[in-house]
Amino acid sequence: MVIECWGRVCDQLRSDIGQDAFQNWIEPLNLLSVEHGVASFSAPTSFVGTWVNRNYGDSIALMMTREGVDVDRLDFKADVLVKAEKAPEPEALSEQAMPPKATRPIRTSGSEDLPGAPLDNRFTFDSFVVGKPNELAHAAARRVAEGGPVTFNPLFLYGGVGLGKTHLMHAIAWEIQERNPKAKVLYLSAEQFMYRFVQALRFKDTMSFKELFRSVDVLMVDDVQFIAGKDSTQDEFFHTFNALVDQNKQIIISADRAPGEIDGLEDRIKSRLQWGLVVDLHPTDYELRLGILQSKAEAQLKHYPEVQLAEGVLEFLAHRISNNVRVLEGALTRLFAFASLVGREVTLDVVQESLADVLRASDRKVTIDEIIRKVADHYNLRLTDILSPRRARSVARPRQVAMFLAKTLTSKSLPEIGRRFGGRDHTTVIHAVKKIEELRSIDNQIAEDVELLRRMLEA
Ligand code: ADP
Ligand code: MG
Repeated sequence: MVIECWGRVCDQLRSDIGQDAFQNWIEPLNLLSVEHGVASFSAPTSFVGTWVNRNYGDSIALMMTREGVDVDRLDFKADVLVKAEKAPEPEALSEQAMPPKATRPIRTSGSEDLPGAPLDNRFTFDSFVVGKPNELAHAAARRVAEGGPVTFNPLFLYGGVGLGKTHLMHAIAWEIQERNPKAKVLYLSAEQFMYRFVQALRFKDTMSFKELFRSVDVLMVDDVQFIAGKDSTQDEFFHTFNALVDQNKQIIISADRAPGEIDGLEDRIKSRLQWGLVVDLHPTDYELRLGILQSKAEAQLKHYPEVQLAEGVLEFLAHRISNNVRVLEGALTRLFAFASLVGREVTLDVVQESLADVLRASDRKVTIDEIIRKVADHYNLRLTDILSPRRARSVARPRQVAMFLAKTLTSKSLPEIGRRFGGRDHTTVIHAVKKIEELRSIDNQIAEDVELLRRMLEA
């Protein structure tokens, strides 16, 4: 029964997340048991477990529940850890015994003869703020930057605009050069890669192009989606890539989406890019945005020591401004410039006045699954309770709250919302929305619950 349910969930996942992601993340899992709402899996490494739980945990729990096996939470046991506990591997020990990193020395010019793009010296690991949405990408970047045996090759970082891909790549380059000033690190955008290649073709000098690119220790190509559809460049990229992998040289690639989703990229390249480790930078959450704002505000205060920030300004910005860190940074810079010009304390009024356009442009999207999960947590219910036909008030009321939030915070239709709540009719949803609207004006507890949940979901 449980196994069949998992089989159906797998079929659904395969079509939802695509064959590649499915193969990378879901196929290696083994469902061990489901007990008291906890589905236990074994995973090849704890990394895979954490990743799956973070990216697909809620969806898997909901799917299994819909398929008839009550699951509230997933638990992962790493095969590797179990083995490592018994007999620690020598590498693992020596890694732990490594001395702490020395302070940053003056930069040497190890790679200056390479025709890469300049590295921004603000983009280091020190200035990268880590939070839940980027912790795995950050951990993978750190691991690669530490050198040692090449295990993730290539490292493929992807994510939306302004989430820190370029920052992380530069940080890796700085770190590698710091640890090993002799390492030949070549960082460039895919666009520059193409430009160099076209130049080489034009001047009939592809030999030195090939030699150059194949002589590096670390090759980093940013925004690789750019070469999609550019056939001869792709071809050359593929050969360079293979030559470096064969020599066990590290390759680090970024793109704005997963390899399998880049249209116009040849299949053999897509599959090659997935050989290593593919990690994504998720859209920022409230905590991460606040952390980044705090760190950037500190830096701004060095330039504008006269500026005074009122209490709550950074929190307000973290709530209201979109996922894109570049937009967040831009807003903060404008705010400081404005405050310094007008010589006023930065209050919420000043923020609203000076950033009206940015604030209008940022509206976050909430999903129904997130709403169900948050409401269940808030009322201490299980996901199954929310989806079940039970009509007891203790379950029905929270379910109505969740439906109300789904209607007001998402653009989903009433029938769609009904379907997502255990296959209910759209009239049930209408009834729930009316009920909660009515209760909000007479029942303080409900009003507070709804407000709190709304704020959490929009954070
Ligand atoms: P991407 O390449 O993904 O489009 P960038 O790496 O260029 O994004 O990041 C955009 C801006 O946001 C940069 O100024 C970068 O320093 C900053 N940034 C992004 N993420 C972080 C973070 N986690 N901590 C600090 N700054 C960040
Ligand atoms: Mg970038």
